[in-house]
Amino acid sequence: MPSTRRPRSELRKDYIQDKYVLIAPRRAGRPYTVRRPERDGRRDARECALCPEEIDQEKALLTVGPRSDWRIKVVSNRFPAVSVDNPRAYGVQEVVIETPHPERQLDDLPVSAVVELLEAYAARTVELTEDPRIQYILIFKNDGGRAGASIAHSHSQIFATDFIPPHLLDKSKKTFEYKLHHGTCPYCDVIGQESRGPRLVHEDDQIVVFTPYASMHNYELWILPRRHLDNITALNGQERKSWAKALKRALRAIGDLGLPYNYYFHQIIYDQDQHLYMKITPRGSVWAGVEIGSGIIINPIPPEKAATYYRRFFR
Ligand SMILES: [Zn+2]
Ligand SMILES: [Zn+2]
Repeated sequence: MPSTRRPRSELRKDYIQDKYVLIAPRRAGRPYTVRRPERDGRRDARECALCPEEIDQEKALLTVGPRSDWRIKVVSNRFPAVSVDNPRAYGVQEVVIETPHPERQLDDLPVSAVVELLEAYAARTVELTEDPRIQYILIFKNDGGRAGASIAHSHSQIFATDFIPPHLLDKSKKTFEYKLHHGTCPYCDVIGQESRGPRLVHEDDQIVVFTPYASMHNYELWILPRRHLDNITALNGQERKSWAKALKRALRAIGDLGLPYNYYFHQIIYDQDQHLYMKITPRGSVWAGVEIGSGIIINPIPPEKAATYYRRFFR
């Protein structure tokens, strides 16, 4: 007879931050399968604000490829929450259009296009860093309706402000404390641990991909460079290529689960000793009473199980 014993839950803490998650496995396989809205009800290209016929009317901040046949384009966000002419909410918001084709998603694009996207993020980071008031840059993607995307056309966003989110200040402080005590970077140490453990998904000479010990989201995945690099502008060509390949495979795996996702990079400009990472967070669970009330997250998919799932896509 199959066992009916319910797997035991386990409270886990983030590597560095005071963030807690209850890993509470369910017996059944995939508890969340939602349909990706943009795969089903795609808008008519003529109505899309990010298609070439619309966006080519606007001033581009960056164009990759020939002007009339571009592959990636970066423009200002038309409805920014922060702007450089508002001293009470100072910042910059940009939209990175990842392809001119409305029917292609990021994981449909060739690796070379994903490499170009990482290069575009880096180029914008260099330019935004020139404004001495900018202290924080977030590069992120919302894929799918539940993850907050209002436009189906594949794009990501850049959000830069003169304000550092408190939880990141706290992370920088804790990272510094760790360095004082151990003499090493906590993320370099995490790479060492995770590349030997059950949560490793993929590694090569450039990058390490794993599901974090205290995954806040089901199927959460992190990509880190092996080298201790402060931000995306420091990646070399080989690292970008490895990264792009891994990202494409990860997004394909998440697509097969039917989950929308977010991914993001943070950068605190004046902390120049961070370890770059990309966090990919599929949005399968809806945070409810426990999460909102206590701040403790419940994740029904143990990261060890998520890693087993991902490894199939990295063979
Ligand atoms: Zn479009
Ligand atoms: Zn490091």
